[in-house]
Amino acid sequence: MARIVKFGTINMLTAGLFDGWISIGEIASRGEIGLGSFHALDGEMVMLDGEVFRMGTDAVPHPVDPTTTTPFAVVGAFETPESFELADCEDWDALATQLDARLVDPNRPAMIRIRGRFTRTRARSVPAQSKPYPSLGEVAAHQTVHELPAFEGTMVGFHFPEYLQAIDVVGWHLHVIDDDRRHGGHVLDVSIERATVTIEPVGGFEVLLPDDPAFREATLVADTHAEVQRAERG
Ligand SMILES: [Zn+2]
Repeated sequence: MARIVKFGTINMLTAGLFDGWISIGEIASRGEIGLGSFHALDGEMVMLDGEVFRMGTDAVPHPVDPTTTTPFAVVGAFETPESFELADCEDWDALATQLDARLVDPNRPAMIRIRGRFTRTRARSVPAQSKPYPSLGEVAAHQTVHELPAFEGTMVGFHFPEYLQAIDVVGWHLHVIDDDRRHGGHVLDVSIERATVTIEPVGGFEVLLPDDPAFREATLVADTHAEVQRAERG
């Protein structure tokens, strides 16, 4: 089973803890694929084969300096994943239905990589926030959404069951980057012509937490579902 390492929890973001506290160099050493954000929520992260890219509000991927920091990221490495082919997946709901059917143990998180041809992708990114930080819902209200042209690319991500909603985004959370490194972001909707899916249940995960006053003093809630869904879907 896959092993993942989480840097921060999603309820830290709903509490407005957007300051980066761990370096990209550090997180990249802990997995092969991953996703997350950056200090002050400045863009969307994709990690692919240990290489980290940032997509700002222009949705263009840029390599990231290893000293850049993040408040929230999830990375992992496959052990013995399964693969299968996807064809003619019209939209996000159709994709989620097909992926849900492959969750062999729905009470475990799952890690996933989807390589293929995406004919239409709706991707979002968010601009850097400044203090005092707004709520995650307010950030999402000002997200930038791009309708990306067809491309060959890779989506990476995770599925967390609902009972872990304080820890991570519930359901399928996917970030995308194209092979030419021209487009990417957090996936809101997608049409897939064909793709190869690599998927594996997660055997367990480590959660690293910041050692700073903002974290010590924050009020962290257990129920993040409504706010995260709002932020996810815009
Ligand atoms: Zn995301």
